[in-house]
Amino acid sequence: MSLLNPDYRSGADYAFLVSRLPPDIQRMHAMGIRNVTLIGFDPTSCVYFWRSIADLAMQKTPAELMGQTATARQLRFYKWIVRGRNDADMGMQLTGHGGTDAARQAASLLPGEEKRGCGHCGWAPAQKEVYSYCAGCVIESQGRRISCMYYCSRKCQEDHWPTHKTFCTTRKKVVRAAHLIQKLMYAIEAAGAQRQVESLEVRDGVTHLHEVPQEELVLRGGPILNPVAQGNASQEAYHAALTGQTCNEIVIVGRQLLNLLIDPYCRHMEVITIVPRNAVNPLGILNASSKLNKECYMMIGAHKVIRLHLASGETLLLDISGAQYGWREPVAPWDKWCRHRAAHVNHANAVHVSDTIENKQRMLASYEQIRGERLRRQMAQRIQSLLSTEAAQRKLPSVLALLGLPGISYNVFEQHVVQAAQQACLQISQSGRTSRRGL
Ligand SMILES: [Zn+2]
Ligand SMILES: [Zn+2]
Repeated sequence: MSLLNPDYRSGADYAFLVSRLPPDIQRMHAMGIRNVTLIGFDPTSCVYFWRSIADLAMQKTPAELMGQTATARQLRFYKWIVRGRNDADMGMQLTGHGGTDAARQAASLLPGEEKRGCGHCGWAPAQKEVYSYCAGCVIESQGRRISCMYYCSRKCQEDHWPTHKTFCTTRKKVVRAAHLIQKLMYAIEAAGAQRQVESLEVRDGVTHLHEVPQEELVLRGGPILNPVAQGNASQEAYHAALTGQTCNEIVIVGRQLLNLLIDPYCRHMEVITIVPRNAVNPLGILNASSKLNKECYMMIGAHKVIRLHLASGETLLLDISGAQYGWREPVAPWDKWCRHRAAHVNHANAVHVSDTIENKQRMLASYEQIRGERLRRQMAQRIQSLLSTEAAQRKLPSVLALLGLPGISYNVFEQHVVQAAQQACLQISQSGRTSRRGL
């Protein structure tokens, strides 16, 4: 297969793309080899190449994307991907014009719960409004019920309880734990990110984050970790900035929290790689002055999530860093989430949550990054002791018992511990800066 589109064989676009080819392939081009088979090439090299095409596509005006040449078609296709591979944006592939923001937003929402019969007797009232549902185990996303147990009457709900109880209480605790962990990870990222954000704006369907290049950070001798302030950014853009490229962090820095709050309800947890779709305003991390990594659109590449096999028999998705795709729910039914959010699920690559990813990451990381990771681990540890204190103050037997608190008390606890975590993390990030100044 030809790596470069035949239409690219001349002109500025061609020169641009050749300059971005992975070094091995560039050498082959220099030798006049034009047809390269991708088999046997390191897939990450290909990702760099795709990123270059994506970058080119994003630089084109809509007028330049029109027409039926192979180049125009290819660039439109990449622009569609970069903007989120969104169902409402499909027209972009034909005309170069995308869907409205509202349509893209709507298409990105997980579908609501399908109309189903009573969870106990199976009777299905004609109107959905007649149903009541179990408030214990409902999973919501952006104000919509995406999964719940319906009942036709109070009696049916009561009669079903002995059967439903285990499923319900397990799910309720896992859903609470997932939301809590997401907020705590946001606290860590907000206080101590491995990047320094220069600006953040939503433009052309993408949340553009300009960062100070890593090389420059090292040269400046700046702090290892940087707080990320919300500034004028919307909540969505801010969370996208916090979660950009952090999908491994949940099993590295967040692992203690996973083990503490989620693992006890699971038979096992796996990390699974997916190719995202139906994103809305996905993140693009851009830094014009870096030689290594000029642009990195989150849609070019894969996303890692966790599949939870609960002891109750249910399979749930856990996605702490979905905000980089404009997704907000940390937990959802696995199958439903995959149908809507994944263009491809790489089940073959599933790995158990263990040290593997951590060790791999550490092999690739710089000395600075490892020092940063150490501080971030301290933050996670401090959060763990905050949770223990909350449990002790309420005379609860364990941290897990916090997840079973009745509604209002739970909300009070959550708000309190998240605030305390934000302060503690900032303090640790600050102490890292001070100690460094003394060096
Ligand atoms: Zn019923
Ligand atoms: Zn329930």
